[in-house]
Amino acid sequence: MAATPKQPGSAASVQRILAAARFAAEKHAQQKRKGASGEPYFNHLVEVAELIAASSEELDVELVMAALLHDTVEDTGVTLQELEERFGPDVAGLVAEVTDDKSLPKETRKDLQVRNAHKKSERAQKLKLADKISNLRSILASPPVGWSLERKQQYFEWARQVVSGLTAPDRVLKAEFDKTYEMISHLKAD
Ligand code: ZN
Repeated sequence: MAATPKQPGSAASVQRILAAARFAAEKHAQQKRKGASGEPYFNHLVEVAELIAASSEELDVELVMAALLHDTVEDTGVTLQELEERFGPDVAGLVAEVTDDKSLPKETRKDLQVRNAHKKSERAQKLKLADKISNLRSILASPPVGWSLERKQQYFEWARQVVSGLTAPDRVLKAEFDKTYEMISHLKAD
């Protein structure tokens, strides 16, 4: 079913966003964030969607939906085809743009994120940026068990490299990223 753009703010738009949220909540139900506090993974998806929604006066319904669904293919085995059938080709295409190829080794995937950042569409770049902000925030608030300061710094540095590869970073989100990135300099080794 082809998803025609709906009037933002209409009941249909809210319903579509909530349907994406419910689908993501179900698919990620058993997954927790890597941080010591063991937050539900779903919190990350809501945070990314909120960052997207707050970054602009105009609501991009499909992009908010894609934010909620952005890790379903990578982490839960949902296929892009299923996303397309349920939520339309625009949403599925956005998720595809931010999905890593899990058959590759982790270091290769991280390297490809840096090298491919400039090829992403403007909207996918927004999604990338919001994702990285959320990931940095969670490392600051509740880092994975056993991560040294150096490991955290390395992660921050990698995220910065991905973000500096973006050719059309959203201004609001880029400012938030820079603010979050800067916080690493205040962290002390434990
Ligand atoms: Zn994510």
